[in-house]
Amino acid sequence: MWRNLRIAILLLILGIAAWSNWYDRLSTTDWDETLYVGVFPIAAANDETTQAYIERLSTDAITDIEQFLNHEAQRHEIAIARPVSVELYPQVAELPPARAAGDSILGNMWWSLKLRMYARRAVRASGKPPPQIRVFVLYHDPSFTRQVPHSVGLQKGLVGVVHAFAARHMTPTNNVVIAHEILHTLGATDKYDPQTLAPVFPSGYAEPDLEPRYPQTFTEIMAGRYAVDSRTFEMPASLGDVRVGPATALEIRWVAQ
Ligand SMILES: [Zn+2]
Repeated sequence: MWRNLRIAILLLILGIAAWSNWYDRLSTTDWDETLYVGVFPIAAANDETTQAYIERLSTDAITDIEQFLNHEAQRHEIAIARPVSVELYPQVAELPPARAAGDSILGNMWWSLKLRMYARRAVRASGKPPPQIRVFVLYHDPSFTRQVPHSVGLQKGLVGVVHAFAARHMTPTNNVVIAHEILHTLGATDKYDPQTLAPVFPSGYAEPDLEPRYPQTFTEIMAGRYAVDSRTFEMPASLGDVRVGPATALEIRWVAQ
C-alpha cells in the first residue's frame, strides 16, 4: 500500500513537471502576445570595475537585444507589434548556484532545480513583475578574466546564466551572447561544431543560399560565428551583424513546421 502510494506521488510529480515544461514551451513560442524577458546583472567578483560598470548599466545598454529579436521576428512574418520585451532588472547580490562538476544526470537535475529556486528568489527580491524568461548576467572584470565559463540557456525552467565582461566596448558582444542564450530558452539549438567552432552548413549560416557562398556577411545567432571562407570563421561585432536563420526560426516556431 505504501509502496503504491509512493509510486503514485512520484508519478504525479513527474506528471506536473512534464505538464509545466510543455506549457512553458507552448506559451513562450506561440507569438500571439509579447514575451517578457528580464536581464538581471550580477557582479561575478567583488571588484570596483565590475560594480561601476553595473551601476552605469541602463536599459540603453541592452536595447539592441530587443530590437534584434523584434526585427528578426518581423522578418519572419510574426505579426504582433512587439513580439519580445527585454527589460533590465535590478542587480542581484546572490550568485547563481555553481554547476555540478562532471556530467552526472542527477547532479544536473539537482543544479537545475536549485537554479529555478534561485531565479524565483531573485525575481521576488526585485519587487518588479516577474518576466517569463530570466537571464542572469555575471559580469567579470576583463583585466582579470580573459576567459569566462560557458553561458547556458535552459528551456526547462526558462532560465539563462550568461558570463559577460564589465567593459563598455564589450557590451555589444555581451549582448550577442545574451540573445543566443535567450533563444536557447525558447528551444533553439547550437549550430556550430563544438570541436572547431565552425558554423554548421547549412543550419548555422544566416544565408545558406548565398551565391557564391563565401564570404557570408551575417552571423547566424545560434552558430556564433560567420564563415569568411571555408576555413575562416569570425565573430560578429554586434547584433547588427546577426540574423536568425531558417533552422532556428523553425525551432522557436517563428515559421510553421
Ligand atoms: Zn549555445
